[in-house]
Amino acid sequence: MTVRATSRGAQRTSLEGTRAEVLICGASFAGLAAARELAGSGASVLVIDRYEIGERQTSACACPTPWLEALGLADSIKQELPYMSFSTPHGSARYRLPWSWSSFDYRKLCELLWDQCGDARFETAKVESVGNRRADGLVEVMTDRGVILAPLVVDALGWRRVLSSPHYQPPEAPLSRGLEVHPEHDGSGDALDIWIERSIVRRGYGWRVPAADEARIGVGSYDPNEHVKQSTVELAERLDRDAVGYQGNWFPHRLREATEGGIFFAGDSAGHCFPLSGEGIRTAFYFGIACGRELRAVIDGRSDRAAALAAYERFNSAHKRPFAIALALQRLIPALPPRLLTALLSLIGRQAIVDRAFGWYLDQASPQFATPDALHSTAGAVGDARVFAGASR
Ligand SMILES: Cc1cc2nc3c(=O)[nH]c(=O)nc-3n(C[C@H](O)[C@H](O)[C@H](O)COP(=O)(O)OP(=O)(O)OC[C@H]3O[C@@H](n4cnc5c(N)ncnc54)[C@H](O)[C@@H]3O)c2cc1C
Repeated sequence: MTVRATSRGAQRTSLEGTRAEVLICGASFAGLAAARELAGSGASVLVIDRYEIGERQTSACACPTPWLEALGLADSIKQELPYMSFSTPHGSARYRLPWSWSSFDYRKLCELLWDQCGDARFETAKVESVGNRRADGLVEVMTDRGVILAPLVVDALGWRRVLSSPHYQPPEAPLSRGLEVHPEHDGSGDALDIWIERSIVRRGYGWRVPAADEARIGVGSYDPNEHVKQSTVELAERLDRDAVGYQGNWFPHRLREATEGGIFFAGDSAGHCFPLSGEGIRTAFYFGIACGRELRAVIDGRSDRAAALAAYERFNSAHKRPFAIALALQRLIPALPPRLLTALLSLIGRQAIVDRAFGWYLDQASPQFATPDALHSTAGAVGDARVFAGASR
């Protein structure tokens, strides 16, 4: 049974009228990455989430190892996976990547990130909506513990984009859906395995992520109308594993605006999950850091809110191309005849092509971005070093 740490009922005191210089809503990948950039700034930073930090895992928790290392999160790694395998009904291909994936422990990772967030304060609260933007510059955020006020507000609350109106709602919104199970595992395996088979899911893929003592086996559908429970159970059965420890969620597959109504959006709330791969942890870190650097520039007096919002939106827009390419591939690949896809996967399997393709992919949100004085590791993706968040001044 899940042990819930989050306080309920009478244990929750009112937060009505609480003020902070920066209010970060959402204490997962994007929110904590943004808060981390504000450590040592002297600003009053309040982070809120409906659950305690690290309490509720929402993904298979596989991330490029260089990102975990760059953020000082290597202690959360459960298993390193230098290979990827892709299977279709007609064959499979195994690639050695120029970098590795690592599966990690969500709670541990969040705790390690939080340790780097300096004097930021944390409260559990369910965010309901955004209220008035007051004449004094304060934004009212409505929560189940009362109204919290701050001039700088970040929505890192995930796919629903809670502080926007209207919210994103499936199945109409451009969202994919994913479900996975977490059976026991013996620590074997060196690959993140992917299945692209229409019998599993018409438009999407199945996965297995070994994570030391558990395997994370799941199915994602690019079509929000297609249910994936049955196919997840069948994939687990095929792999001779029990379908236990369910966990599922929606994830966006289209880049959204990163600012709206004076609010910063980072991670899934801004559509920062890559289409095709459904990889959104690295990008949540990446855009969370970019957002945090803009906030830091305001706190340090190098910028003001309007300029920070504009710079962050420019940074976001500069990534439209890779997101558009990934979305086009997300549409194309499921439509390819399976035999052609199998042949292509084998063709791409030449080491030089794998290195190039996966090197390009990593560069779209490069781990070098995590280093404090990185001025520009993502020129290829961003196209214009001047838009580098928080470093333009
Ligand atoms: C089954 C599945 C497996 C996945 N596997 C991977 C993977 O292996 N690797 C990868 O890179 N990506 C994966 N993804 C995608 C990845 O989970 C997301 O892109 C990523 O979690 C986005 O991070 P985030 O910080 O923006 O949002 P989230 O991780 O969704 O965090 C949002 C936070 O906001 C809080 N919150 C939400 N609403 C409220 C509210 N109203 N009030 C208060 N708090 C609230 C939540 O509790 C949570 O802490 C997977 C997705 C799914 C569904």
